Amino acid sequence: MRHKKEIGIAGAGFAGAVLARELAESGKYEVVVFDERRHVAGNCHTARDAETGVMVHAYGPHIFHTSREDVWSYVNKFARFRPFTNRVKAVTARGLFTLPVNLLTINQFFGKSMRPWEAREFIASLGDRSMESPRNFEEQALKFLGRELYENFFYGYTKKQWGVEPSCLPASILQRLPVRFNYDDNYYASRYQGIPEQGYTALVENLLDHPGIHVRLGERFDPAYTNEFSHVFYSGPMDGFFQYEFGKLQYRSLNFERISEKESVDDFQGNAVINYCEESVPYTRITEHKHFAPWEEHKGTVCFREFSKLAQGDDTPYYPLRLESDKDLLLRYEERAESQNRVTFIGRLGTYRYLDMHVVIGESIDLAAACLANETCAQWPRFSRSRT
Ligand code: UDP
Repeated sequence: MRHKKEIGIAGAGFAGAVLARELAESGKYEVVVFDERRHVAGNCHTARDAETGVMVHAYGPHIFHTSREDVWSYVNKFARFRPFTNRVKAVTARGLFTLPVNLLTINQFFGKSMRPWEAREFIASLGDRSMESPRNFEEQALKFLGRELYENFFYGYTKKQWGVEPSCLPASILQRLPVRFNYDDNYYASRYQGIPEQGYTALVENLLDHPGIHVRLGERFDPAYTNEFSHVFYSGPMDGFFQYEFGKLQYRSLNFERISEKESVDDFQGNAVINYCEESVPYTRITEHKHFAPWEEHKGTVCFREFSKLAQGDDTPYYPLRLESDKDLLLRYEERAESQNRVTFIGRLGTYRYLDMHVVIGESIDLAAACLANETCAQWPRFSRSRT
């Protein structure tokens, strides 16, 4: 029997776990997955709170949504999903409103009762028509929403979240959020949405539960291991793989502060996510985790305030910042990665892009298919990048 090729995967998050599963499933590869943490699922990790039993999204809220039929049926093979629709509320200087900006937000914020087409015309009249193609977050907001909505819902939150003026950020960050001229307050515009009944960690454990996959937790993948494998998929930070030789790419990190003063309360805020848009409030949002699993019942509750900061030292990287200086650096690392014919960089950190779970999963499914169609590892892509 022909010897199977050994594949190394750095990181047991979605990017690595889906690839591991697909390659092992083919029967042609033996896969070793490394993760420096003691758990799988990366930043999607969920664990039950010891006191209340509430399933906590340990690295912040994760709501699964996708419009790709194949991605939805794929994740449903590894976990039972329960329907969940994310309906975010936002506290602003002028009160609490629903997000994303929808007809209720607009009517309540401006004290009107407009119909859809009236609201559309009204918002268009507030937009800055002088701007042809918005060059950044702020211009995108001013063009499509006007100054008042921008200042109340987006300016303060964005400055806290990213630590820079919104005019320094790409318009694509704001384009993540829909604006609706009806009363639909579903945060996402995806066809499918839900949360795995037993959490994301159980889902990823199921993905990795295969005789061809060997998981090594608590073990950091050292780039020096690369030559021990036929090929490596690396989902750690791309600059880290190269020992930061050109300098560090910037990331935002998060601090979570547990709210403990209301221990006797069973429902702290009545919703999973409430954003705090004012610059003067130091945190960006409060997440109450029991509301991500409305099918469960628990005494007590678990809430966290979320604070954003620049990642430094050992801080966990969460969001690639992608300022102009980062883009120059990224180009240099990408060129360096191009010359590395045994390694493919995958996922949010490996490719330094602001990707959601469903996009990462879709990319790993596509990448695995491309690799399985061509057994010459040296010809495998250097990066996971595909349709979203
Ligand atoms: N945003 C904002 N105010 C809000 C919600 C979002 O300004 O109340 C902006 C902010 O810049 C944020 C971006 O929209 O980073 C994308 O929001 P999303 O909810 O997709 O962020 P995530 O949940 O990934 O942190």
